[in-house]
This record gives sequence, C-alpha cells and structure tokens, in this order.
Amino acid sequence: MAMKQSEILFKTQKTPPKDEVAVNAQLLIKANFVDKLMAGVYSYLPLGFRVREKIEKIIRKEMNALGAAEILMPSLQPKAIWDATGRWEGLKKIMYQFEDHAGHDVGLAVTHEEVVANLAQGLIDSYVDLPKSVYQIQAKFRDEPRAKSGVIRGREFTMKDMYSFHTDEKSLDEFYEESKKAYIKVFERCELKAYVTEASGGDFSKSFSHEFMVETSAGEDETYLCRLCGFARNKEIADFKKGERCPGCGAGVLEKVKTVEVGNIFKLGTKYSEGANLNFKDEKGNLRPVVMGSYGIGIDRLMGTAVEVHHDDKGIVWPPEIAPFQVHLLTIGAANEELQKFAESVYHKLCEQGVEVLHDDRVKISAGEKFYDADLIGIPWRVVVSDRMMVQEKVEAKKRNEKNSKDMKPSEFLKVLKK
Ligand code: ATP
Ligand code: MG
Repeated sequence: MAMKQSEILFKTQKTPPKDEVAVNAQLLIKANFVDKLMAGVYSYLPLGFRVREKIEKIIRKEMNALGAAEILMPSLQPKAIWDATGRWEGLKKIMYQFEDHAGHDVGLAVTHEEVVANLAQGLIDSYVDLPKSVYQIQAKFRDEPRAKSGVIRGREFTMKDMYSFHTDEKSLDEFYEESKKAYIKVFERCELKAYVTEASGGDFSKSFSHEFMVETSAGEDETYLCRLCGFARNKEIADFKKGERCPGCGAGVLEKVKTVEVGNIFKLGTKYSEGANLNFKDEKGNLRPVVMGSYGIGIDRLMGTAVEVHHDDKGIVWPPEIAPFQVHLLTIGAANEELQKFAESVYHKLCEQGVEVLHDDRVKISAGEKFYDADLIGIPWRVVVSDRMMVQEKVEAKKRNEKNSKDMKPSEFLKVLKK
C-alpha cells in the first residue's frame, strides 16, 4: 500500500491549536493525523486512519486467537435495556440520553454489556452452548467532564470491547487469564510496556478488575509500581507509604507513577445476565444465570499513548508495527523531469516489493519543509532522492530514531529493510 502526498488531503500545521494541552493531540494535529471538531471529538485523516487500521489489525489477530468472533452492535440503544440493569439513572451524567421524535427514550452507547447480554439471551440455551466470546471495534460516546488529554480521552471514541459467556467462575477465570496474555501481546506489538494493575470494578462493575497501565507523564491515573517484579496497583484502591516495600516480591520499593489505562478487563459475574434473563440449562436441567466477563481496549487511546511514549522534540517516532507507512520517500530538489523519473522508479521498486511507502512528491515545497514534515510525521525510514543521489543511482536512507544516514542503491536499501 502506497500513497503520494500530493494526492491526499494533507497539510502539516506550524502551530498547534491553543486549546490543546496534550502532547499527543498537538503532534497528531500538527502532523495531520487527526482534525479536531470540538473538545474530545476528532476526525481521522489519511495518516491517522492508517495507524488505526494497524492497531485494529493487531487486536483482531489476538482476539481471534482467543476464539472470539467479531460482531458489530448498534450505538443507538433503547432505555429499557439499561433500566433492566438499573444503569440508565446511574449513568445519566456520562451517557448522552435523549428522546426521539416518537417520544421514546434512547441513548448513545457508553459500553455494550446490556446489548450483548440481550442478544446472547436469544442464542444461549444450554451448557453445551458455552463458553463463547464475541468482540467488536466500535464507537462509544461518553460526556467526559475533563476532555483535556487529546485522543486519550475522547467524548466520541473507538473501543475494542469483548464479552465472554461461561457456565461458571472457573471457565471465566481460564478465559480471563488467556485474555490477559493476549492484551500484553497487543501492547508489546505497539511497543508499549503495560503493567497489569489490580483495580476496583469501577463504575461499570462491582467486582475485581485489571487495568493495563502504561507509564507516561501524560497519564491521568496514579499507579504504585514495583520495577523489580512488575507488581502494580491502582492508587484508587490502595495507598502505600513512601518507600514501602513491594507486597508482591518483598524486595523492590514501590514507586508512585503517572499512567494511562490502555485496557481494562472485568469479571462481571452474573450482574448483566440477570438483567437480561440470560440463563442456561446446566447438566442437571437447572436454569442458571450465565457468568460473564468484559474486556476493553481504547483504539484512539492506544494511539495517543504511543505518541506520548514515542516522540522527541521534532515529532512522532512511530513504533514500526503501527506506523502509517514503513518508508517516507522524499523527492528533494528542483522538479526536473529526470529527477522525477528516478524518484518514480524508486517508488515503484519499493511498491513492487510490498513496502508501504508514502512519497513526498509535492512540488514547490522546500527541502527544509519536507525534512521538517518527515520528522513530524515520524515514519520509521526516511529515504531521500535528489540530483546528487541520482547521478550515483543511490538513495539516502535514515532511520527516524537515528542520526546518521547512509547512501545506498535502492536494492541494498530493500535488503536492509527486510532484515
Ligand atoms: P477511565 O478510567 O480512563 O475513564 P474506564 O475505566 O471508564 O476509563 P472502560 O469503561 O473500562 O474505561 O473502557 C475500556 C477502555 O476504553 C479503557 O481501558 C480505555 O482504553 C478506553 N477508554 C475509556 N474511556 C475512554 C475515552 N473517554 N476516550 C478514549 N478511550 C477511552
Ligand atoms: Mg478505569
């Protein structure tokens, strides 16, 4: 997959919007990945869209490996299913709720436990139907009071939410542990170290949960962390004294650090199945409520967190697996026909080999601007073609996170890239 910069809706911004304080939003807006419509609501432009696709691809692979099947549920939901679990009133402050023209109360999805439990109710009858799991990648709406963290806290955002259904706690526990491992894999592929953190059930469930916390000064959460063994506990559920020893390993000293919650897994028990009459017949023919779990990852939040962790004073430094492209090809110099031909030939050579290339083929843009933009956008490899390079039939290749470039033939570069 390749793109020419001259052909896409693209313009980097020199100054970020004044009302954006978060580094992730400043960089993503400056580099033209997102456009802000209002507080906590963003459009995703061609580059940003590709990063989302990369993240979604990683997540789909890991969720499918757990045996979960992808579905899609609606954002617009009737009040009745939320009344059945008693959450319509409780979520009033955060859920967009309104009356439609026919006079029915409806709301926009803050999460999907109610919908998924209702639909599963028609599909699960007996223990032979269990365990099962489904997931979706879909929009959520929350009237967040403090939408100041850029795409890390949106009022409209995309979540991967997965739900699992079980006959008993033991089956839930097994799936829960597998999901933990899958989550760690997802975050590792995004080059984020996520600490599995003990947390409370929060607003959405009363039972125990685990949060996946990434350390960054942009974090809104505070976590006690042991760097020795990885023990982590949310400050919301425990306060440790300064310098206290880790209760996990007894050797490390706990540190209080700022973190972003990129994912969250919950053992829901039977709360939502009871609301939706989601029961199954056990081996003895007794009717019992289905035991559920729910598992979330914020797509936009993951992207924003990656930017917070992977950037420098010049711009974003994308982890390769979620970079919009692998190679940023820059044509530098006077727009003479010969140079353009050479640049095209390099472009096609890379495309033929399946390399994802963004070609900065824009004319009337100075070399300085192109280099500035390339650093801001943060694609892992920058490959320059210029008149000087053309006479040697070479390109100048440089990694985004390294200082020095190297001149090489396009074929040599392909070898380096594939290593
Ligand atoms: P927080 O405590 O940060 O408000 P939460 O605990 O309410 O989040 P969940 O309801 O568990 O979040 O949602 C699952 C995942 O969705 C979170 O781990 C996070 O990655 C993502 N998420 C939640 N709220 C937002 C938001 N406003 N914007 C972007 N992503 C979000
Ligand atoms: Mg939370």
